[in-house]
Amino acid sequence: MLGPMWPLNIVVVGAGIFGVTAADVLARRGHRLTLLERGHVPDPRAASTDLGRIIRMDAGRDTTCASLADSCVTDWESSAAWLGEPVYHADGFLVLSRRGPTPGGFVQESIRTLERMGRAVRRLDRATLARSFPAWARADFADGYFNPRGGWVEAGAALAAWARRAVGAGVRLREESTVAGLWERGGAVRGVVLASGERLEADRVLITAGSETARLVPWTSSRLDSVGQPVFHLMPVDGTPFHSRAFPPWALDIGEAGWYGLPLNRHGVLKIAHHGAGVAMDPDDRRTVPASCVERLRSFLESHLPVLNGARIAAQRLCQTTETTDGDFLIDADPEHPGLVISTGGGGHGFKFAPQLGQIAADVIDGRPNPWRERFAWRRPAAGLGAARTPAPSAP
Ligand SMILES: Cc1cc2nc3c(=O)[nH]c(=O)nc-3n(C[C@H](O)[C@H](O)[C@H](O)COP(=O)(O)OP(=O)(O)OC[C@H]3O[C@@H](n4cnc5c(N)ncnc54)[C@H](O)[C@@H]3O)c2cc1C
Repeated sequence: MLGPMWPLNIVVVGAGIFGVTAADVLARRGHRLTLLERGHVPDPRAASTDLGRIIRMDAGRDTTCASLADSCVTDWESSAAWLGEPVYHADGFLVLSRRGPTPGGFVQESIRTLERMGRAVRRLDRATLARSFPAWARADFADGYFNPRGGWVEAGAALAAWARRAVGAGVRLREESTVAGLWERGGAVRGVVLASGERLEADRVLITAGSETARLVPWTSSRLDSVGQPVFHLMPVDGTPFHSRAFPPWALDIGEAGWYGLPLNRHGVLKIAHHGAGVAMDPDDRRTVPASCVERLRSFLESHLPVLNGARIAAQRLCQTTETTDGDFLIDADPEHPGLVISTGGGGHGFKFAPQLGQIAADVIDGRPNPWRERFAWRRPAAGLGAARTPAPSAP
């Protein structure tokens, strides 16, 4: 698909983490970049905007995912230097399960994968869990471990810092610029048309519009699915038990539909969220959390984290994930629409891969080899939308 022209004039649609990282890499390679965002970075509707995102390399038996995440953890660890903001917190990751040790289960398989990679974890039983992480003393817990390699990133702040970095590299960021559609001519995509009617020409259009991708590129709707996942920000009465050492980022039954969360941040707020089949929502829907999800949170706290029972819910929202039908990202040129490249499908776990996401999309555009490209290449959609939804799509 790559023509002889260089540098390319590239328009990127959507300044979430997929778009910002790609624009940054491509600008550093000398291309001319315009990054269009319907709101402001970080946009509150973006999946990339939140108090925090878990950065973990624990991925069950998925060795590709584990080693991609492993290399990203290394990048996150040095991110304060190249991002210019201390947004990453290397607090480790606590994996908890209500099931006993199960061969083939997420806990066992993650440990095996990590051992093969030479990454040691600390196995936990009830007594060691209660001693090391007392907030979990009452949890209905049967198996788990602590992985010191991992942590969490202040997602909204990281996105904003990455956008500043991209602008510093020459990206022209245009906020309040909603793309209404693609501009096609002669069987190829030649640019985009804004809601204002303005037309922007481009040699390549990269769509990184998250849950809006299927609307802008309707022929991807059979392979993409978006649902809302409830997220809560809590303010405990006493924050002492929830600082990162005693209460690191955690997930309970992450391989299935489950709960996960983050430690207290510097504003005295912690995050608890549920990742499962999700709530069906249109991208235009309000992001109000249904009362049933709040009830489910209360009953989860009651049985697993009673120390949080009196905590005030400081904020709540539905955060929209965009998932492919097989759960893998889609980062490739559209074979039937020359000029068009798509990078999406982060589901509930895309943020951690930010240090590689832009690289992969840029290598697609530049036609360069990349060890991860094949996994995320254009492919036939898996049968049946929603198949990827049950019991849980790619979790945080
Ligand atoms: C509840 C929840 C929890 C998660 N937890 C984790 C986690 O712990 N760890 C992890 O690694 N990942 C996690 N993820 C996944 C991760 O956040 C996403 O995979 C990632 O942020 C998706 O980024 P994106 O750039 O594809 O989409 P988005 O962040 O949604 O960005 C798309 C951007 O495009 C813009 N846009 C849309 N349409 C247009 C248009 N027409 N014109 C111009 N701009 C447009 C939007 O405003 C938005 O800014 C979680 C996701 C959710 C929802």
